[in-house]
Order: sequence, then structure tokens, then C-alpha cells
Amino acid sequence: MSLSAKQLQRYNRHLTIDSIGKEGQIAFGDANILIAGLGGLGCPAASYLCGAGIGSLTLCDSDVVETSNLPRQTLYREEDYGQSKVVIGKRVLNLMNTDTEITIFNKELDEKLLENFYTVILDCTDNIHARLKLNAHCYEKKIPLVSASATAWDGHLIGFDFRHHERLCLSCFTNPAHHQFSNSCTQKGVVNSVVGMMGTLQATTVLRLLLGHFDQHGEMIRYDGKTGRFITLTKKVDPRCLICSEPTSQYKEAPVNNINEENQKNGDLL
Ligand SMILES: [Zn+2]
Repeated sequence: MSLSAKQLQRYNRHLTIDSIGKEGQIAFGDANILIAGLGGLGCPAASYLCGAGIGSLTLCDSDVVETSNLPRQTLYREEDYGQSKVVIGKRVLNLMNTDTEITIFNKELDEKLLENFYTVILDCTDNIHARLKLNAHCYEKKIPLVSASATAWDGHLIGFDFRHHERLCLSCFTNPAHHQFSNSCTQKGVVNSVVGMMGTLQATTVLRLLLGHFDQHGEMIRYDGKTGRFITLTKKVDPRCLICSEPTSQYKEAPVNNINEENQKNGDLL
């Protein structure tokens, strides 16, 4: 792929950055990204990745737009109430940038969706079962995974580059014995700009992965919106992890019944 005269103009602000340039912009155009979940995380992530000229975005979500989504799910408007999120999302993103091909799956995450190849997968879901399914798939197929969550004022982000690392995965974080950083809230709501920022950080992490600038495998970034502070948390591999510490035959058997109930409900990363 090369860049047309129109694209040279359109992506000028990227091209002038030494660490991106034409080569990086072409890498963006060659990428095929899956965004699982088109809610408060997925909307800003999809907007920025589409704007950045990602070649192909696949959007997966079975939900319809509700009024309570509108403060943070920036692809939707009041008139979209009751309509499919991915259908509306595709329409809006197509208007934003015709360089990006949009594919939609108006259903829950399933095996058929994961049969396709993706350069990077974004976990923008809100339940732990989907998160662990994506984690197991990305680990097995050596696909980078970028997960995020947000509750009230707190946001979390973790990226895994399974192309280069075989140890440490999202499942290592979900054993109750390692919940030293656990966020125990369930229905505390979420600040719209906090979840928006986490989705934006997911998009930035994707761009870094595509440029080969990602070296934070398994590092968790925590943002406290109430104090405005970021902290980085590191963690060791859980030797009992059934994904990255056991034979591959057990990937699909990873138990999720020992995850604390509150995290199951709100899909918190920790
Ligand atoms: Zn693991």
C-alpha cells in the first residue's frame, strides 16, 4: 500500500512525526482491528482509530442504543434510541473516513467472529467472561490484546503483546488471591470523560503496537480521575493461570467461576 495525494494531505499531522511518517501511516492502513464492545470504551476507540486511517475495523456488539448510553457513548445521538449500536457506529464512522472499511457483527462475541485474523484486538467489553475469552484467543493466536475498564472515577488499561511474550496474561489478574488492587464497586456508575479517556488510551496503545513502540506487556495503567493521577502497576505471572502457565489443551477450559461476583457483574479488570 502507498499513500495517495489526498491521504498525504489528510494524515499530514501524523506524517510529520518522525516516529510515524509514511511507513507508520501505511502500517495503520494495513491493520485490521477488532473492537469487541461499542460502548463507553469502544466509541472513542473506534473514532480515533477510524480517524487515524486504520484500514479495517470490525465492530462487535449486540446491544441497542439506550438513553443512559448517551453521556459517554459518543457515536450515538438521541434519535438513535433503540437502534443497533454497530449499525449506527458503522454509519457514523463511514461518514468520518472512507479510508476505513467497517465490518459489523450485531451479536455477542462468538467463535465465528474470532475465526478472522486481526492485527490487534481491543477488549471494550463489560463482562469478565468475554474478557477471558478474548484473552485466551489472543494468547493462543499470538494477537496483541488491549483491555480497559472504568468504574466511577477509576480507569484501568492493560496491553498484552502475545507476539513476543508467552507469560503473563489477563487471566493472571483474575484470581481472587491476587486482588490486592481489586476494585470492589459494582453499580457505582462511571464518569463519562474517564471511560472516554480509557478508550482513547486503548486507541493510542493500538497505534503504538502497530508502530512497534509497545514494551508494556502486562503493565497495568490505573487512572484516578478524582485526583488526576496515573499509576503503573506491575504483576508477576500467576503460576496457577490456566492460560499462560498450563498446556494449550486447557485454554478453553479456563474456569471463570472463581472470579469474585462483583467483578463478574461489572466486568472490572481487577
Ligand atoms: Zn496468565
